[in-house]
Amino acid sequence: MSAVEDHDAAAARASAGSPATPPGFDPAAVAAEIGRRIGVKVVRNQPLARLTTLRVGGPADLYVVARNAFELRALVRFARSRDIPHVLLGRGSNVVVADAGIRGLVIAVRAEGSRIEGERYLAEAGVPMARAATETSAAGLAGLEFGLAIPGTVGGAVWANAGAHGADVAAVLESATVLTADGREVQLGPSELGLAYRTSRLKVPSGPSDVTPPGRAAAPTEVVLAAAFRLRPDDPAAIRARLDEIRRWRREHQPLGLPSAGSVFRNPPGDAAGRLVEAAGCKGWQVGGARVSERHANFIVTDGRARAADVRRLAERVRAAVEERFGIRLEYEVVFLGDWPADDEPDGPDEGLMDPPPSPLPKRPSEVDR
Ligand SMILES: Cc1cc2nc3c(=O)[nH]c(=O)nc-3n(C[C@H](O)[C@H](O)[C@H](O)COP(=O)(O)OP(=O)(O)OC[C@H]3O[C@@H](n4cnc5c(N)ncnc54)[C@H](O)[C@@H]3O)c2cc1C
Repeated sequence: MSAVEDHDAAAARASAGSPATPPGFDPAAVAAEIGRRIGVKVVRNQPLARLTTLRVGGPADLYVVARNAFELRALVRFARSRDIPHVLLGRGSNVVVADAGIRGLVIAVRAEGSRIEGERYLAEAGVPMARAATETSAAGLAGLEFGLAIPGTVGGAVWANAGAHGADVAAVLESATVLTADGREVQLGPSELGLAYRTSRLKVPSGPSDVTPPGRAAAPTEVVLAAAFRLRPDDPAAIRARLDEIRRWRREHQPLGLPSAGSVFRNPPGDAAGRLVEAAGCKGWQVGGARVSERHANFIVTDGRARAADVRRLAERVRAAVEERFGIRLEYEVVFLGDWPADDEPDGPDEGLMDPPPSPLPKRPSEVDR
């Protein structure tokens, strides 16, 4: 089989609205070279919407799957050595991919090796956090139960210092194996990684922390290859009970089953973004196929016809409403990847913005926060 596949339909869509690829970037030649040197299949013009939980966005010029840490390392080193713009994609659960797609190379992290060593859990970057939670709890180890709530990978979770239900990566991470910008491979602990509320030093390499600069691919300067978690033995029945409670809470409070990217905004100090969005009357607001969830105001959900621009425009509208009402400018928790129009509001008129249905103000932050 050829090392290069082409998606014609996606290519046609891409050429309609996508800026040119970077000068000197020859996708066919790069794809062939990756196939030859690293032995992995490269897909040209790969649609990305289905590879994200929000289900919107255009294609990647080149798309490749790293099935183990060796391939991940090799692909990142190759892209760096050729100055090829590249973006890592875990499970795509915290990103909004632009309708025009992503120029350069998208590397999907599917390195999924894992093992338990005593009270430690060792996982490659592509291990789903939910699997980390179930594997460790089955072994009678406590600490990673919150992973059940995170539909992303170990690498994405370290990048975000993901957390839920009173726990986060920082609390259980012993160290992450990181490929640094200068090509070294180092073990970094939580403080060296700068893990803090939903952030890490991996998250802010080259621009504003909340939004990828429009029109620029987010080439990661540092890449998580694997992580080691330090857990503690506990009664399996108690662990199971905590997992059940997480499942129950999520079913009750989150719009599960509908495409979303989780919380759109970070919680500002001392408050919950969801409470502010709800109190500003934005629940139920809709732009095109994107809607502020009725169940959790900090979630934007999409239907099959949604475009990434709908999501962005709706999020900006919500942001403006909260700022006008409370004087608080919410920061994004989701990241916008790929080729976005230069201004904050994507092109086009504000058609489709619907008035919110009347809703009572939420009483306690815990009602709307996860
Ligand atoms: C329904 C739903 C519920 C959610 N609930 C929570 C929650 O309770 N708590 C919470 O914290 N988050 C939550 N999230 C957000 C999301 O799951 C987390 O942020 C998760 O950690 C993202 O992981 P990912 O693999 O999907 O990363 P992606 O979305 O694929 O990528 C996010 C960013 O991380 C970078 N990245 C990915 N892998 C690596 C790597 N190996 N090395 C370096 N950079 C990398 C990417 O380049 C990208 O910039 C939720 C999302 C959804 C859809």
